[in-house]
Amino acid sequence: MAIVAGVDLGGTAVNYTFLDGNEKFLIEGLCEYPARSREGPEICLRQIADGLAIAAAKIGRTMADIAAVGLDTPGPASSAGVLSARGSTNFVHAQWCGFDIREGLERRLAKPVTYLNDGNAGALWGHFVLFGAGKSATSISAIIGTGLGGGVIIEGNVVRGRKGFGGELGHVLIPYQNIPGIEGMKPECNCGRTGDLEALCSLTAIAATLLPYFLRRYPDHELGRLDDLRGAAKRVRALAEAEDPMCREIFRVQANALGLFFDEMINTFDPDALIVGGGAIETGDEFRTWFLQQIRAGMPSQRVEQADIPIHIMPGGDTAGARGAAIEALKDARGLGLM
Ligand SMILES: [Zn+2]
Repeated sequence: MAIVAGVDLGGTAVNYTFLDGNEKFLIEGLCEYPARSREGPEICLRQIADGLAIAAAKIGRTMADIAAVGLDTPGPASSAGVLSARGSTNFVHAQWCGFDIREGLERRLAKPVTYLNDGNAGALWGHFVLFGAGKSATSISAIIGTGLGGGVIIEGNVVRGRKGFGGELGHVLIPYQNIPGIEGMKPECNCGRTGDLEALCSLTAIAATLLPYFLRRYPDHELGRLDDLRGAAKRVRALAEAEDPMCREIFRVQANALGLFFDEMINTFDPDALIVGGGAIETGDEFRTWFLQQIRAGMPSQRVEQADIPIHIMPGGDTAGARGAAIEALKDARGLGLM
């Protein structure tokens, strides 16, 4: 039986997965091969192809069994998979500027290749877990990591947008002044906006805004003794889980911010589900349940028909990108009559 592959090109590693026509994943966890993005397109794409053959062999398959391939990478890139001409963190080699990575991989593999940015691929995976690969449901996924990524899936399809910036949820402005207990806070984002979702709900926001703000209220806190705010920010989640009052406050503000954002999405899309993922909630159940409660607490009251909108946790953080990419490839292969 034909299968499709998902290829997640990260900063240091390529992660592979495979999906069959019954929508069953054939690899459970990570299946990694070193990425060589720094050495430019030629070497990187050859490396991806070599790793794909090795990954297929691990599940007893060959390249001939693979009907289509889904690729995802960090952005910025166009919706068709042309990397930004201005370069980006993960693609520093000069030859990547304006490079069509989707077409490049398609040519090397001689198979259809689809492209998604990593946020949108993660969102498609979160959607698939709830609704499968069919075309019916609408969901919004927010993935809290260094930044705030995610995506919008409408009736099963990823909203890529005109220029590839569909689902850039982190830079949507929210009425953050409605969040209690942050009077005088100025949440500034790297993008130049003040008060967008990423400026309140991301690891970057903790280091740049939330931690400095709350340390003024908790001057004796142990994190105040660290010089490195970035390092201190990484410790906030574990302390919050251990019920440290200041760190709980920081996560309460992040959850309330997400609640305000989700309220905007409910009124824009009337979605079937809201999904939260990312490192911030790779925690125990007690903390997750509390975090979801705080998201709801941050939402303005909903009309009766929408008050039961489900908020889900996205499973499988590390494999989300590859899995989302594979789901996109499956949809493509079905459309082409290959599966
Ligand atoms: Zn922003």
